[in-house]
Amino acid sequence: MSSPKSIGFIGLGIMGLFKKSADTQNLYIYDISTEALSKLQSETSRTRVHICSSSKEVAERSDVIFTMVPEGSHVRAVYLEPENGILSTNLASKILVDCSTIDTATSSLVREQIIHQFPTATFYDAPVSGGSLGAAKASLTFMLGASKTDPNITLLNQLLGTMGKFIFPCGGASLGLTAKLCNNYCSGLIAIATAEAMNIGVKSGIDPRVLATIFSTSTAQSTISDTWNPVPGICPGAPSSNDYEGGFKVQLMKKDFGLAVDAAERVGAKLVLGDAGLETYQAASKDPNCVDRDSRVVFRYLGGDENWAVKFEK
Ligand code: NAD
Repeated sequence: MSSPKSIGFIGLGIMGLFKKSADTQNLYIYDISTEALSKLQSETSRTRVHICSSSKEVAERSDVIFTMVPEGSHVRAVYLEPENGILSTNLASKILVDCSTIDTATSSLVREQIIHQFPTATFYDAPVSGGSLGAAKASLTFMLGASKTDPNITLLNQLLGTMGKFIFPCGGASLGLTAKLCNNYCSGLIAIATAEAMNIGVKSGIDPRVLATIFSTSTAQSTISDTWNPVPGICPGAPSSNDYEGGFKVQLMKKDFGLAVDAAERVGAKLVLGDAGLETYQAASKDPNCVDRDSRVVFRYLGGDENWAVKFEK
C-alpha cells in the first residue's frame, strides 16, 4: 500500500491516537462509549472525520485501522465479536495496528485469525509509552512488533510518525508488546525501590531533597527518581507533587506488571521480585487512598511521610 486514503481509529480514551494523526486522510472513528464520541465530535475542528456505528464499519471504510482499548478482552471484542467486530468484514489487503497494552497470547490469537481468513491482510502489535501528555503532544514512543525489513515499514513509520517521536521495530510479531511489558516491569520495580529507599531515608531524618540529589549523581540514579520521584515536593511537575493526580494510573501498572509476570512464566524467565511487585500494585490498586492515582503513589501506600517539609523548614 502506498499512501492510504482512509484511516480508522477504534478506542478514543486517554490515549486515543486520533488526536494527532495526519489531517490529510478521511478518518473513520468508533468508540463503544457514546460519551467519548460526542466529546470528540464537539472538540474536533477536522472536516474529514466520520463517526461510525461499529468497529466493523470502521474496518469496512478504512485502509489502515488503529485500535487502542484497555485490555485483551476489549481487543477480542473489537476484532472477533461475530456481528460487529473487525473480522466480520472483508479485510483483504488492509493493515491493522493494535496499540493496546495486552497479553501476547490475545495479540497472537487475533493475528492468526486475521491471517487465516484474509491472507493479504497484516496485523501488528504497536504498544506505546509516553502517557496522556505524549498522546496529546504526538511525542509517543511506539514499540512495533515488526522487523526493520518488514514490507510495510516505510508506511508504518510515516503513519506512526504523525503520532509519536520514536518508532522501534522490535524484530517480529508480538515483540512490541514484549518490549512494552519488559519496560513497565522494570520501571514499576524502580518506582517501588525508589519509594522504599526514600522512605528509609526520610524516616531516619535525612531531607529527601538531599537524598534525591545524591541519587541523581550516584548509582541509584533513574528517570523515576529524577523526574517522577514518588515523594511529593521533590519534582514539582511530577504527579506526586499534585496529590498523585495525572500520570500513569496504579491500576494500569498492576495490569502491565501482571502481564509481564505472566510473560516471564511463559518463557521460563526466573523472577525474584515479580511476586512482591505484583502484590504491591494489586494492594495499592485496592487502597482507597491510592486507587486512580499515579502509580508512584506506592510511597503513600508504604506509609511514607508526605509532610516531610515541615521537619526541614529551618
Ligand atoms: P481509556 O480507558 O482512557 O480508553 C479506552 C477507550 O476504549 C475508552 O474510550 C473505551 O470506551 C474504549 N473501548 C473499550 N472497549 C471498546 C470496544 N469494545 N469497542 C470500542 N471501544 C472500546 O484507556 P487508555 O488510557 O486510552 O489506554 C488504552 C491502552 O493504552 C491500554 O492498553 C493502556 O494500558 C495503554 N497505555 C495507557 C497509557 C496511559 O498513560 N493512559 C500509557 C501507555 C499505554
